[in-house]
Amino acid sequence: MKLISANWKMNLTPAQTREYLQKFLPLVEDIKDREILICPPFTSLCVAGEMLAGSGIRLGAQNCYHEPRGAFTGEVSLDMLKEFGVSYAIVGHSERRWIFGESDELINKKVTACLKAGVRPIICVGERLEEREAGLTFKVVETQIRLALSGVEEYTSSVDIAYEPVWAIGTGNPATPEDAQLVHAYIKDLLHQINPGHRGETRVLYGGSVSPKNASEFMRMKDVDGLLVGGASLDPESFSQIVKSF
Ligand code: PEP
Repeated sequence: MKLISANWKMNLTPAQTREYLQKFLPLVEDIKDREILICPPFTSLCVAGEMLAGSGIRLGAQNCYHEPRGAFTGEVSLDMLKEFGVSYAIVGHSERRWIFGESDELINKKVTACLKAGVRPIICVGERLEEREAGLTFKVVETQIRLALSGVEEYTSSVDIAYEPVWAIGTGNPATPEDAQLVHAYIKDLLHQINPGHRGETRVLYGGSVSPKNASEFMRMKDVDGLLVGGASLDPESFSQIVKSF
């Protein structure tokens, strides 16, 4: 099933989350043919978990830490997240990589911990502008995926991948649907190379300046299995239009 995900980033307080979901839930209550995922900040997981319970809409975390407990000030473990009803975690978002310095090695530890905890990781990959201009898009994406899955290659069917070109995130300048399609098809081939037993359940999502205006163009592409939406997911009306796009 296609997966349409909202990444709220560091936006919306618990009170604003309640208000958002009160508006959003009735707008999407008839949608049964796609999975909807909301990834609020940690501080809103409790209220969102309570409001989404029984709705069929999934709750995700924007990040996690790979250790189960201990002296890791400011970090949040997967067991803590699961208690709120979290079933997905975004791992390796470009803002984590480039603002907070997360390495491929750390991302691999997080992916591994998610798989062990039964939380489905959405592994974010994508090239920066200079890498694209140097013709390195496929190489960058391949390296990021291989490193993220290092040691857990047999679990390719238990992860989703978000292709998010860094230059397209939050810029209003999305990739063309045709360019996204090329990278998505490449990623799917790569998963079969990494794991010859790959069953193909991995959704490859597109992310980067998705809006209600362009969402359908991406969703029509053969290998686009869903979307990861930042800015345009912050308004319930706009995100509901994206959820309904075909
Ligand atoms: C994101 O944060 O994953 C994202 C794609 O952001 P935006 O939709 O705002 O470009």
